[in-house]
Amino acid sequence: MDVSIVIPLYNEEESLPELCEWITRVVNANNYSYEIIMVDDGSTDDSWSVIQKLSVENPNIKGIKFQRNYGKSAALNEGFKAAQGDVVITMDADMQDSPDEIPELRRMIVEDKYDLVSGWKKKRYDNRLTKNLPSKIFNAAARRISKIKLHDFNCGLKAYRKKVIKSIEIYGEMHRNIPVLAKWAGFRKIGEKVVEHRPRKYGVTKFGWDRFINGFLDLSTLSFVGRFSKRPMHFFWLIRNYIFYHWFLKQSLSNHCKNY
Ligand code: UDP
Ligand code: MG
Repeated sequence: MDVSIVIPLYNEEESLPELCEWITRVVNANNYSYEIIMVDDGSTDDSWSVIQKLSVENPNIKGIKFQRNYGKSAALNEGFKAAQGDVVITMDADMQDSPDEIPELRRMIVEDKYDLVSGWKKKRYDNRLTKNLPSKIFNAAARRISKIKLHDFNCGLKAYRKKVIKSIEIYGEMHRNIPVLAKWAGFRKIGEKVVEHRPRKYGVTKFGWDRFINGFLDLSTLSFVGRFSKRPMHFFWLIRNYIFYHWFLKQSLSNHCKNY
């Protein structure tokens, strides 16, 4: 199979038919064999009946349903388990990502031999204060910690060589850090493509202010695990040194005070 398109979604009933129609148009124009895997992350609207209807009309459209809302990372993880395509492309369900990007993303994996290509929403159509600025800070921190030169770690539009998605597990809020997980799994050829970003046409965003707190916490987990997973005793050694250093400082200060 040439390409699997994995779409995590939570309450996106309005955009699904239009999105599937657009993706189908693009893959058919390029003669790809394909599947569209829609992972319904416990929607409470009619998303699941829309998916069922779409998959009857087009057998290349498949659905996975969660009984409750587990989060975007869990949805991507299940989609990745089911994906069969040589190249796997993820995109959001709200039509902020353009399916027209699929052929070039796939070409970069197949011909340029990238393991992972991450979209870069260079021109964003999101709220400047609540998303654009915190996102810049998050990306700068992620670049520093991971040493991966990407501008936009959290872009929903990404392409992967099949081997990559079968080698990583995405949990918690880790969908923001997938390039880091891929690098740790040994996939070093990570590239970037400027992609078109569009204003949300239907529904509302599912992430609030806490997105960046969660993102940073997971980034710190990554940095912690990256540093100590292979040598956990080094962590306790650091703590011991820290305690000893403070004890020593306190002692010398009290001696100093006695003398004067
Ligand atoms: N999403 C999901 N589970 C959630 C929250 C979001 O599957 O718990 C999906 C959502 O339906 C969309 C994608 O993740 O397809 C990105 O969400 P959203 O558009 O709200 O994020 P934003 O574009 O505002 O960063
Ligand atoms: Mg969105």
